[in-house]
Amino acid sequence: MSDRTPLMAGNWKMNLNHLEAIAHVQKLAFALADKDYDTVEVAVLPPFTDLRSVQTLVDGDKLKIKYGAQDISAHDSGAYTGEISGPMLAKLKCTYAAVGHSERRQYHGETDQVCNAKVKAAYKHGITPILCVGEGLEVRKAGQHVPHTLAQVDGALEDLPAEQAESIVIAYEPVWAIGTGEVATPEDAQEVCSAIRKRLAELYNKDLADKVRIQYGGSVKAANVAAIMAKPDVDGALIGGAALDADEFVKIVRFRD
Ligand code: PEP
Repeated sequence: MSDRTPLMAGNWKMNLNHLEAIAHVQKLAFALADKDYDTVEVAVLPPFTDLRSVQTLVDGDKLKIKYGAQDISAHDSGAYTGEISGPMLAKLKCTYAAVGHSERRQYHGETDQVCNAKVKAAYKHGITPILCVGEGLEVRKAGQHVPHTLAQVDGALEDLPAEQAESIVIAYEPVWAIGTGEVATPEDAQEVCSAIRKRLAELYNKDLADKVRIQYGGSVKAANVAAIMAKPDVDGALIGGAALDADEFVKIVRFRD
């Protein structure tokens, strides 16, 4: 068993306004009050408009739930209408920022180059990126899921120093399993997560690769999380739909209980 602390992160996508966010995080905090956060780390990734409310709640109640953004601009400031920068997220004490979620790649044309710039922007401001990678259905059917995903890892990590790369979180999210109810088998998840870890050892070194947390994401629920988490290279989950139901998310976080 590895000594990597699993990270269970809820990606709310474009759901829950700031008042709903407060109610949701309060429910999580109550249900997880006895939780030992040294054995499982818990994070939420709300929409930007909720971050200040979540910060106030987390700081005020000394909650151990962490939070982060669903995206981060590659730029620090300037004429980039609609974007939110690393300095702004750092001011809100975000621990994490997702980079390259498949919905950003699909609807906002985010390339591996853009992801690389966003990963670097996150580190520049002390924020840990959760880099999302994974193949679409056609690529999976063609049996190219491993090389496709590794190329995304290579692109996003280009010229990233080892001191930064060692703390990155990588979420393997096969696009065909996101929001579809079509969960990858634990073996599918392990195959790609272990290939990612091997690639990290090639790009950096084995010690670094052994430190990096690699999550699985794609229709994770309370009913399937334990089998996925039993795989040696899976260090947590990125949870979309099921993270909007506080009871379900709590059950996922408590997969070991
Ligand atoms: C996601 O949005 O990252 C995700 C994995 O969604 P879902 O759990 O709904 O498939």
